[in-house]
Order: sequence, then C-alpha cells, then structure tokens
Amino acid sequence: MPVQVYINGTFYDQADAKVSVFDHGLLYGDGVFEGLRSYGGKVFRLDEHINRLWDSARAILLEIPMSREEMAQAINDSLAKNSIQDSYIRTIVTRGAGILGLDPNKTSDPQVIIIADSITLYPDEFYEHGLEIITVSVVRNHPEALNPRIKSLNYLNNILAKIEGLRAGCVEALMLNHKGEVAECTCDNIFLVHDGVLITPSVDVGILEGITRDAVIELAQKAGIEVRQHPLFKHDVYTADECFLTGTAAEVVPVVKVDSRKIGDGKPGPMTRDLKDRFHLLART
Ligand code: PMP
Repeated sequence: MPVQVYINGTFYDQADAKVSVFDHGLLYGDGVFEGLRSYGGKVFRLDEHINRLWDSARAILLEIPMSREEMAQAINDSLAKNSIQDSYIRTIVTRGAGILGLDPNKTSDPQVIIIADSITLYPDEFYEHGLEIITVSVVRNHPEALNPRIKSLNYLNNILAKIEGLRAGCVEALMLNHKGEVAECTCDNIFLVHDGVLITPSVDVGILEGITRDAVIELAQKAGIEVRQHPLFKHDVYTADECFLTGTAAEVVPVVKVDSRKIGDGKPGPMTRDLKDRFHLLART
C-alpha cells in the first residue's frame, strides 16, 4: 500500500507527495528533521524528538508553522492514516520555496512533511555477533561551522563518511572531530566500556545529542553503572573492553572490531548485551 504522506495538514499518496523545486530544503539543505520510531503504535520519546526538532529549527532561525502539540497530533495521525504499528517516522521542516539565492527572507511557506513508513532493520547477526566499523578521514562538522547538535537537512558530512565506510565494507563509520577526538558515527552515537565504567563523548565534542543515547545513559545509571561523558580518543576505542552504538533505528548495536582491531575479546560484551536488552524492553513497554 502506498504511504500516505502528510504535507502541511493534508495526506497525499506517496506518488503525489511533492514540494517545489524552489524549496530551499532541496536547493540548499535549508531545513531540519527528526527520525522517530513507533513500537506497537506508540512513538518512542515523542516529546523529546519534538523538542529537539524545535531546538534545531530555532538554531537556524526557522519558525515551524504549528505548535508542538499540533506536531505531536500530526505524527500520531500519520501512524493512524497508514495503519502502521512499528514504523520509522521522518519529520521534515523545510525553509519553503524561494528564489535561486540563499536569502531565507525570500522564501515563504515552510513545508512540514511527515512520512510514516515501515522500518528497515539491521540483520539479527549484527546484534548477535557485533559490527565491524572503521574510523574515516572525514572530520565531523566543526561546531562553530555547522553544529552537529542541529539535525539539519544538510547531511553531506555524514554521507561522505558513510561512503568512505561503505567502500571499506562497513555499514557504519566513526568520525573524529577537528581535534582528533572521537565524535560519533554517521547516524549513531558511540559508547565504550572501560573497567566496568560506561563512557561516551560529551555533547561539547560536537555530536548530535541522541535520544537513544540519553535513554541508554538513564538505563545504565538506574542499573547502578557509572557513566562518564568526556572527550575520548582513538586509543580509548582500541583499548576498550566493549563498544556499542546507539540510534533510533539501530537501538543498541554491539561493535566488535574497529579499524580491523578486535574490541575486547571480539564478541559483544556483557554490559552491551545487558543494555541492549534493557533498551529493547524500555522501547516496547
Ligand atoms: N548521530 C547522528 C549524526 C544521527 O543522525 C543520529 C540519528 N538521529 C544519532 C546520532 C542517534 O540519535 P537518536 O538516538 O536520536 O536517533
């Protein structure tokens, strides 16, 4: 069945869901988005995603032409309209159609688009045996250039890293920041375990503050695990006992090899497996 796509209050068959070729979202990546997930018809951390969308929009001086409550309603309506329980939901707000020139003041009508579709999951073997990733040469955006905290439509930084990873046979790729500190993967945050302590790069390193990341930190703290957030280097990754990634689509996925080096004993570690199960349960209850 074709996906029913929400655009500015109306649902369209996916083939008829269109925006202008003059939209600055297309011309310049001028806009913001969120990737959400529903489990059994309920959106996981809907308010957190909506708040992050509003923060991203605010950071680029884009006014979303509806309230947060209306957005929540529109997202839930999209699920109902598509009769979909377990879905991946993409919410996009573009700057709207303008002229061929950067000036956002020459645009009108920001477009609010919601696509609730089925989700493509990583294969089970990634969760059972873990992923192999590489560190790529593409440096994560400098926070003073385009802050990675903004989930903007301009994802070329991540796409270039993804291409480099794919060409090396890896579905995820680790990016460092301009100082050589570990930042994040192309669409996932990274965690390490060292001597029973869970460590993840702090937000000021220049990363997206992942909603799955926040949930995993909370789960770990509740389980009595010490969690630290501070800058990390490749050395810390190579010498970690365990490593895993978090993201809306991936949830918690173990990493067992980085730059062809085994992490720990080359198998998903006990804390990773425990937090993976805890997150799995949290998202589904
Ligand atoms: N980092 C980047 C660059 C991402 O695109 C994503 C996916 N939104 C994440 C981290 C993970 O964030 P979340 O847990 O909110 O999906």
